[in-house]
Amino acid sequence: MTKDSNQHEQSRWSLNDLFPSNDSKELERAFTSLEELVTKFESRRDDLKDSLLSETFIKIIQELEEITKLVQRIGGFAELWFTEDTQNQSAQAMVAKIEQLSAEISNRVLFFSIWWKSLDKKTAKKLLKGTGDYLYWLEEMRHFKPYTLTEPEEKIVNIKDVTGSNALITLYDSFTNRYTYTINVDGEDRELTRGELMTFVRMSDADLRARAYQELYRVYGKDGPILGQMYQTRVRDWRNELINLRGYKTPISARNLHNDIPDAVIDTLLAVCQKNAGVFQRFFALKARLLGVEKLRRYDIYAPVTQSNKEYPFEMAAELVLDSFEQFDPRFAQMALRIMNDNHMDSQVRKGKRSGAFCATINPELTPWVMINYQGHSDDIATLAHELGHAIHSLLASDHSIFTQHACLPLAETASTFGEMMLVDRLLEKEKDAGVRRDLLFKQVDDSYATIMRQAFFALFEKTAHKMTSKGASVNELSEAYFDNLKTQFGNALDIGEEFKWEWVSIPHIYHVPFYVYAYAFGKLLVLSLYKQYKEEGESFKPRYINILSTGGSRAPMDVLSESGIDIRQGSFWQGGFDVVEGLVRQLEELS
Ligand SMILES: [Zn+2]
Repeated sequence: MTKDSNQHEQSRWSLNDLFPSNDSKELERAFTSLEELVTKFESRRDDLKDSLLSETFIKIIQELEEITKLVQRIGGFAELWFTEDTQNQSAQAMVAKIEQLSAEISNRVLFFSIWWKSLDKKTAKKLLKGTGDYLYWLEEMRHFKPYTLTEPEEKIVNIKDVTGSNALITLYDSFTNRYTYTINVDGEDRELTRGELMTFVRMSDADLRARAYQELYRVYGKDGPILGQMYQTRVRDWRNELINLRGYKTPISARNLHNDIPDAVIDTLLAVCQKNAGVFQRFFALKARLLGVEKLRRYDIYAPVTQSNKEYPFEMAAELVLDSFEQFDPRFAQMALRIMNDNHMDSQVRKGKRSGAFCATINPELTPWVMINYQGHSDDIATLAHELGHAIHSLLASDHSIFTQHACLPLAETASTFGEMMLVDRLLEKEKDAGVRRDLLFKQVDDSYATIMRQAFFALFEKTAHKMTSKGASVNELSEAYFDNLKTQFGNALDIGEEFKWEWVSIPHIYHVPFYVYAYAFGKLLVLSLYKQYKEEGESFKPRYINILSTGGSRAPMDVLSESGIDIRQGSFWQGGFDVVEGLVRQLEELS
């Protein structure tokens, strides 16, 4: 039975489409058949010769696809179950078990990709013919040919990573996740988590904002030398493996190849960001004026200047989001509705539930799962639109295989960010209250700052830090370099407290996935530019946009975009994104 489309309740999701429960026969059977599939796949090793027939080649890929699907289904169940209740010991244990199992399976099937990469051009070309949807996935694998080691070496790297680099990152997480922060609020000392502490930097009390940041970096700074050492170890490991052993040109080019984006494009992107630092400096100057201070402090950049305190019940939020999707294309609304009707959304706030929000796509045949913690603020509606945007992206690309459904990282945020913008547009259209309108515009620029400039400057710092570490720089020298980076970013627009020199040791991303962050800036600027095109062109833009989304990860990002008339090698393209932000800042300057 499907629910009526106009009653959307805040709900807990069902994982039934994966497995009925953690102790079900179905799950037990899945483990057994996974083992059988992998064993069978291992026997394919003898088939892998230059004389391999195309049909057999496809068959082998399909077998690997089955294995991948099953691993994702079991792993997805564990992850989502753990998300529901992070205190559940059985769920924790299952997540750990699956992690180990996945690493083992990756090693057992590794011979296939190694063989595929080792083939000469001519043989590979012959086999690529007729691979259909697998084509780009196969081609992409071969991009790594020059950087791949022998099978025993690759296995050693994998195994040593579990207790080496990965373990270091886990230690960093465990170490910093148990930090507590003490802050005096209304005459009372309160002990808080980082998440709780950070809510104060968005509050109207200027002194409290400052003290929250000072406390954050007091705690991180106290362990700064150790956390910095952990970072430098990570950075050295990155260099040892990726540059010295595998032969990448620079630390960032390893990430660029994973994203299938040429180094020069990222250089251009980061240069354009640096050039446009002034746009946000203007925004901060405006914010200072609205807050009635001469100059903003770094503590104040998230200070609220909101004029209204509107709250939205979940039902209303769901309606607003669906309505804005409907305006763009009724199919978008239907797909979003499917997430709710299939009971694949967990929107409740519960004790023990993971914080934040995400969309999990397990495989192309299954409706994605969406997790949010809905509390009724306008931010929460934006999050709802964002995660449903991800789900729509997955559903539009569900004709592809499990290897080609997911868009590569720089394109992964396209539908989500675009979805948010459709919502904001709809809200601006409906909203007559000047205060609410100004709030919405403010939030847009706030988000753009956090997604574009902040991340671009992290990436610029990473470049510096990797270089400096290779030349033997100390942790303190990195802190100084970080502080310089902040000064370039904020110019004269902000006063920066000295403790911000420790900010970098508090950014998990630069430890977890080096150079990941530029993808945020890439994605957001790309969407701003696309949105600008949509506003200018209207209907004729839609098929091109839908084409980008439904391509998923089945083609190179450069190709998909250039087919839609977008040349990301040009600085002017990225500048177009900044022009949109500049336009928003101008509107705000006029409204204020
Ligand atoms: Zn997202």
